[in-house]
Amino acid sequence: MSEAKHKCCKTVHGDFSVKYPCRNTAKVERNGKWYCGTHDPEKRKARETLQRSKWDKEFAERQKRWRLESAAPDLLAACKVGLQELESFCHAYHVDASKNLAVAVLRGAIAKAGDK
Ligand SMILES: [Zn+2]
Repeated sequence: MSEAKHKCCKTVHGDFSVKYPCRNTAKVERNGKWYCGTHDPEKRKARETLQRSKWDKEFAERQKRWRLESAAPDLLAACKVGLQELESFCHAYHVDASKNLAVAVLRGAIAKAGDK
């Protein structure tokens, strides 16, 4: 007997919540029941796992952005303090390349934050 003769065993919801048997031709048999490609429990599980991992990744990225945004005022304040200290230190003693680089990096970060 050809697998094409089996119909999917799942029930689907139509308009107005009317339920009817899935009309798709079954492609796989799982534990004695036939399923179409859409309702194959293993494919569904794989799709759900993939979707869940995508959501988890998006959630982690949003959390990271939120943490960075909430820390931004403190980071900006820290940059300003660091810059002030470095500039006063540079005036008091000899200026070397690494201090100039640190000053430039701090100024750049502060400017990028849209602050002076
Ligand atoms: Zn189906």
